[in-house]
Amino acid sequence: MNYPLPSYLSNTGAGPWGVYLEQIERVTPYLGELAYWVETLKCPKRILIVDVPVHMDDGTVSHFEGYRVHHNTSRGPGKGGIRFHQNVTLSEVMALSGWMTIKNAAVGVPFGGAKGGVRVDPRKLSRGELERLTRRYTSELNVLIGPDKDIPAPDVNTNEQIMAWMMDTYSINQGRTATGVVTGKPLSLGGSLGRKDATGRGVFVIGVATAADAGVPIVGARVAIQGFGNVGSTAARCFHEAGAHVIAVQDVSGTIIHPKGLDIPALRTWVEAGRPLVEFPEAEAIPDDAFWDVESEFLVPSALEEQITKDNAHRIRTRIVLEGANGPTTPEADDILAERGIQVVPDVLANAGGVTVSYFEWVQDFSSFFWSEDEINARLDRIMQEAYQHIRDTARARKVTLRTGAFILACERILKAREMRGLYP
Ligand code: NAD
Repeated sequence: MNYPLPSYLSNTGAGPWGVYLEQIERVTPYLGELAYWVETLKCPKRILIVDVPVHMDDGTVSHFEGYRVHHNTSRGPGKGGIRFHQNVTLSEVMALSGWMTIKNAAVGVPFGGAKGGVRVDPRKLSRGELERLTRRYTSELNVLIGPDKDIPAPDVNTNEQIMAWMMDTYSINQGRTATGVVTGKPLSLGGSLGRKDATGRGVFVIGVATAADAGVPIVGARVAIQGFGNVGSTAARCFHEAGAHVIAVQDVSGTIIHPKGLDIPALRTWVEAGRPLVEFPEAEAIPDDAFWDVESEFLVPSALEEQITKDNAHRIRTRIVLEGANGPTTPEADDILAERGIQVVPDVLANAGGVTVSYFEWVQDFSSFFWSEDEINARLDRIMQEAYQHIRDTARARKVTLRTGAFILACERILKAREMRGLYP
């Protein structure tokens, strides 16, 4: 008999984890004596693989594979999102957890890195099936998560409703209401003002700072965005409101363009009503692959990993690649873009607004004292601006890319913490 193997028994060497390891290799020569500790960043601290059985509406039982990876907790509890997607693999979750370790250190929030995911296409589940899947997965994670241990948040195909179910499930298992166990919750359950928009808003703030240094005016700038979910649609709105023209958008349904700029509020309303982006009437649909040929000032990948590769990097005609997604550019593509004079603003900086406001949410939950949206946005903008300046100055001083600059800063913070803590026993 030929039985299928669980997917975690293959697929960890290459793919996103391979990309992450290559990025660590590239930063190592810049770490001086701290390089002694760098292997710690190549070895996730712990990995939990769980079976998630779910009663389906038709009376059958389906089994889904779930993961939670604690990559590194030298600087604080684990922090990172939960992804529901049919292509989730252990390699992907490991890489995403590694990037969370780097990101949290790069912007200076007091967390380690973690990430989770379930290999499932949530579009094929009813609301009841989705709730049962979320609750069983959360119960299986009970040994790892907790407000001072590991705090999940939304990622691809998860949202504030999923976070509410996770918080409720954890709380019931603990016998107390623990709002601080997840972030990205609804406002009515200890969520924070500004959290939903924080990642896309941060992408825009970093885009403006980069454009100022590159001499690219925002008003009239052409923007192409891949992904029109939480991150992509908010970034699109911010660019649109600032007078830029979002001329191309791609999501899982297809790709649309409008040379004079899409009507972003109308497009958001269209998509939020559950209609396919590609059928938006006030735009022209083009083949997906043609997205990479669209000429722009900003290209904002905000969907999945490994989208800009050695196969399409030479075609890209833009000034600034602003990484809303995690891991959208491979190391080979990084090299091609750098040679061609295209500035790449790395994910660990560009999309750090989400975890920054997650940090604010966690702090507010602990103190049960909630801040105004103006206060949250002002603090977010300040942290993002400071992180940008610090990373840009490091990159200039060491004559490296912004990605390597961000990794230098982050690795120094993580490995100094590692060194001071020492090894037990
Ligand atoms: P989402 O589920 O809200 O949206 C994902 C978008 O990507 C959708 O528009 C979907 O149609 C599109 N997409 C999926 N597959 C695609 C494909 N093959 N080609 C083109 N488009 C495709 O997810 P999100 O929360 O916006 O996350 C997007 C990216 O941003 C991910 O890489 C995620 O890890 C990263 N990120 C998210 C947050 C957050 O706070 N949500 C924070 C930091 C980073």
